[in-house]
Amino acid sequence: MGVMEHKFSDNIITATVDGVINWARRSSLWPVTFGLACCAIEMMAVGASKYDLDRLGVIFRATPRQADLMIVAGTVTRKMAPVVRKVYDQMPEPKWVIAMGSCATSGGIFDTYSTVQGADEIVPVDFYIPGCPPRPEALLDAIVALQEKIKGNKVLRK
Ligand code: SF4
Repeated sequence: MGVMEHKFSDNIITATVDGVINWARRSSLWPVTFGLACCAIEMMAVGASKYDLDRLGVIFRATPRQADLMIVAGTVTRKMAPVVRKVYDQMPEPKWVIAMGSCATSGGIFDTYSTVQGADEIVPVDFYIPGCPPRPEALLDAIVALQEKIKGNKVLRK
């Protein structure tokens, strides 16, 4: 870098394209506004002032077309499953899914004909959060883990 040091002024930095794109994506995760049952109350709590998701760049969007994260918060019924899938399909790539709570991860206590036994039956899930309901900190933890996962994404590299 000896020669380079004299060629550029002090405010030049270097980075890979992958690094910049992944930084932008993980710093602006926008979940689609979407709640199915009681776990959604905890999700709303995480978005409110005490936990303040905005500080992580996580801002809920009212349309799937502007969202890249789906938080499945609550019981997925058979009747609701096609709607969940449709919302997921309307989200642009790349996109991620967090299954929040026992119901979304495995059907929870509702081992019945009317309940989907896990959101991964209808959409690909990146992170599962146990609990009924999980604490808001658990959702925060999953979002931070997702940001770490995005850091390693290969955008241009093969
Ligand atoms: S996991 Fe518990 S709190 Fe969450 S939606 Fe199911 S029953 Fe409600």
